[in-house]
Amino acid sequence: MHCMEIAQSGWGEKVAEPTEKINLNNPTEVARETLRRLAMRRIAPTPDNYQTLFEEIVGKPTATTDSNEPTAATALAGLVMDLNLQYPELADPVESLGQSIRKNDWALTRKQLGQITRQLKSLSEGDNASRPQSEELALLRDLLAKTLEYGVVTQLAHDPKLSEKARQLAVAVQEASTATKLRSAASGLKNLWVSIEMQATDSHDQQETLKRILLLLVENIGELLDDDTWLRGQLNMVQDVLASPLQTKSLQEAEIRLKEVIFKQSMVKHGLREATATLKATMKTFVSRMSEAVAANDEYQEKITSHIEQISNTEDVLELNRILEDLLDETRMAQAHTRRAHDQLIHERDTALQAENRIRELETELAQMSTLVREDPLTRSLNRRGLDDEFAREASRADRYKHPFCLAVLDIDNFKALNDARGHRTGDEALIHLVKIAKEELRLTDHIARLGGEEFLIILPNTPIDGAVKIITRLQRSLTKKYFLDNNEKVLITFSAGVALRAEGEPQEAAIARADAAMYQAKQTGKNRVCTAQDVPNKSNR
Ligand code: GH3
Ligand code: MG
Ligand code: MG
Repeated sequence: MHCMEIAQSGWGEKVAEPTEKINLNNPTEVARETLRRLAMRRIAPTPDNYQTLFEEIVGKPTATTDSNEPTAATALAGLVMDLNLQYPELADPVESLGQSIRKNDWALTRKQLGQITRQLKSLSEGDNASRPQSEELALLRDLLAKTLEYGVVTQLAHDPKLSEKARQLAVAVQEASTATKLRSAASGLKNLWVSIEMQATDSHDQQETLKRILLLLVENIGELLDDDTWLRGQLNMVQDVLASPLQTKSLQEAEIRLKEVIFKQSMVKHGLREATATLKATMKTFVSRMSEAVAANDEYQEKITSHIEQISNTEDVLELNRILEDLLDETRMAQAHTRRAHDQLIHERDTALQAENRIRELETELAQMSTLVREDPLTRSLNRRGLDDEFAREASRADRYKHPFCLAVLDIDNFKALNDARGHRTGDEALIHLVKIAKEELRLTDHIARLGGEEFLIILPNTPIDGAVKIITRLQRSLTKKYFLDNNEKVLITFSAGVALRAEGEPQEAAIARADAAMYQAKQTGKNRVCTAQDVPNKSNR
């Protein structure tokens, strides 16, 4: 490789110009002029012709010159030097030419000069041929710049940074007149494509997330419905639309369905408002019935008092009998009234309670809806649905970025015995405690889900198998330090665990089954330990 810096001599440019003053003591200049005249006069480059022209320039025959005067041989040597500097691509033939000159082998020199002249000619033709090519290059450059400016910049309108980058590149491409500038524009282009692709992946992720949220919402609405088959049908259609790849048309379809659902839902809400109004009205009736009953009672008391007075003022048995009969009548009437009032009160109270209960139910249902869909209400770890979501998310991320992730199945040791000895309620508290400690120990990006009973699954994203074993072992150790307290009594909870490295593309159930088998092995070999699952057998297929 050549790394030299060469001062331009301007030899090529001067060929067509008339002879100027030549320094006859400079062999290079003499040789150059000799060659120039050969070319101008279209004379064959034979040593004889060279000699003749050389003498024409120097002004005397070579044979009679002394050793310090330029000779044809020294002039030719100068030419070799010159050619060397000007045409590195002719280094080999020029080197051979130099040797022939030094050996005074003029026959060979003539042949080689002829060759070099032909090569020089084809080199200069090559230069000419490249001119139309560079016109095409300019056209292409222009086309690329316009494509960037009118095609790419407008498509990136949503991302001002990227679109500005594309606009600057368009300018750079337009102005790339040298190979270096063109190369730097090309590397800018490569960067831009990478950014656009990354941004496309991002927006694809966002789209997927939005789709999942929408699906969750649709599911939630579904759970709010009792058995409204029409609404269910609408929602199923929305779910179908969302399950297939997103298209503007199918999205519009989903929008229409959802609008209808929202309308129906507003009617449900209206029902809730009505229940509240009923409760208020019932309470009012209840109070007025109460006051009526109290009023009726007062009237009765008055009558009794008056009868008692009459009773104490009379001695007449017949009169007394009549008063007693009146009294009985009054009492009977009062009793009937009271019973009626009482029955009514009970009825009103029941109606009020029912309305109140219904409201409370609806309210708690609404409040729990969002978390219950993904969480186990006892331990607040993920439930099956939450697990499915997180697994799918981690699996697609792992497959895309080729980062391994691990799963651990945990099963509490001798949990039945703990339940039997301390009661189911304490068992529940122990489950809550385990999840609390796990959440403290694990990273924010890890997930814990309840598989059922006293069995849990931990997802450890971006973690190799030995790292996963370390994390689960650390959790075991921390359970011995942050022990569970039952009535101020320390209770040691241990678990057995199986850890598996999920293979690329491996389905959720298969990966969990391998971790579960490893957990079973941990139970078999003495509990309170961590075992590792076998890798999937056809690893070479991945
Ligand atoms: P091993 O060490 O082999 O796992 O024995 P174990 O007793 O933990 O396992 P086994 O499967 O025999 O018993 C599990 C017990 O967990 C039985 C069941 O009553 C109890 N259990 C399951 N779910 C709950 C729950 O939500 N709360 C409580 N308190 N106990 C539960
Ligand atoms: Mg179990
Ligand atoms: Mg167990």
